[in-house]
Amino acid sequence: MKKWRLIIDVGSCQDCNNCLMACKDEHMDNNWPGYSLPQPRHGHRWIDVARSARGQFPLIDVAYVPRMCMHCDDAPCVKASSGAVYKRPDGIVLIDPETSKGRRDLVDSCPYGSIGWNEAENVPQKCTFCAHLIDAGWKQTRCSQACPTGALRVEYVTDAQFAGIVKKDGLEPLHPEYGTRPRVYYKNLYRYAKCFIAGSVAAEKAGVVDCVSGAKSRLLQSGKRIGETVTDTYGDFRFDNLEPGTSDYVVEVESPGRDKKTIAVDVLSTSKNLGTIWLSQVSTETEVR
Ligand code: SF4
Repeated sequence: MKKWRLIIDVGSCQDCNNCLMACKDEHMDNNWPGYSLPQPRHGHRWIDVARSARGQFPLIDVAYVPRMCMHCDDAPCVKASSGAVYKRPDGIVLIDPETSKGRRDLVDSCPYGSIGWNEAENVPQKCTFCAHLIDAGWKQTRCSQACPTGALRVEYVTDAQFAGIVKKDGLEPLHPEYGTRPRVYYKNLYRYAKCFIAGSVAAEKAGVVDCVSGAKSRLLQSGKRIGETVTDTYGDFRFDNLEPGTSDYVVEVESPGRDKKTIAVDVLSTSKNLGTIWLSQVSTETEVR
């Protein structure tokens, strides 16, 4: 049986917040009987864009991660609700706007913090996956339709088909440790959740400082090589997708005609810019530039 899924590409989100504005436009001041009462003007973000910055100047990057209800297959909100929150056969999780009245306790049932309290209507509320539009024949949500970069993609597929997409595109859920089996999956999530080790390689010759492109850079962990790359035109290298909190790294950098440098990184508590790594001339061989 086909069910709805949402795929979010962290590498494509530019933090324009068109998704948030489209959600507001669809739900604020609008009553969709059977689906949701009007979303409050302030305080509620049924889709929200989280930000994370990694590294240290000048080797930094910023990732934007749209977050909303994950429409979990094993949803704590459903379990806590005595029927006021339910999962539809097509995978969408809805809060019943009538039977959930007064159920402020449901706000705390979501480990993702996706449920907000609507004081004026006396109900808990969250993303509905635009179920009122889906049921009217739409093939997407307002947020996915409004995204100008294609960072939000709706899929209507069987679980087996989705497993193939997960494998092909390297998708992963946010916070799998919550154990709720989310239906929202992310591409390039490492840009938000993982660390990098980076640096810049430079050399001085005849009083001129220049970056060294094409220098071999290796990453070892506990003595075992786990990555290899070469520096770019600006002498920069980067090893990404490293688990935070891991340790015992060594970076080796070498370039023909220059000495080899080795830098140790004990614990990777956050992404690390190793700064400028200077290589000295050891022969008269032509520099790689
Ligand atoms: Fe329920 Fe939270 Fe999962 Fe949405 S993300 S289905 S609100 S537990």
